[in-house]
Amino acid sequence: MPTYEYRCRSCAALSVRVCKVADKPKTVRCERCGRRAVAIISGGAVRLSNASKVARLDPKYDKMVDAAMKSTQHAEPDRLLKKMKPFSSDK
Ligand SMILES: [Zn+2]
Repeated sequence: MPTYEYRCRSCAALSVRVCKVADKPKTVRCERCGRRAVAIISGGAVRLSNASKVARLDPKYDKMVDAAMKSTQHAEPDRLLKKMKPFSSDK
C-alpha cells in the first residue's frame, strides 16, 4: 500500500497515512493541533536489491575497509604460514 504524507497548514507537522489508492483521504486532521493538513508529494518507497545497495555505497568505503583491515593482525596473509612447522622437525 502506498504511503501518503500530509502537512499541517498551521503548525507544519507531518502526518503519514498508509492506505489503498482508492481510500486516499484528500485532507486529514493534524495529529498535533487538529487543524487541516493537506496532502504533499513525497518520495515513493523503493525496495533495492543487494546489488544496487552495494553500488550505492560510498566509493571511499572500500578504501576505509582496506585501511582498517591492514591494522588488524588477522589481515596479515602469512599469519598462518608462520604458525606452521615442517614435518621434518617432528619426531
Ligand atoms: Zn498542526
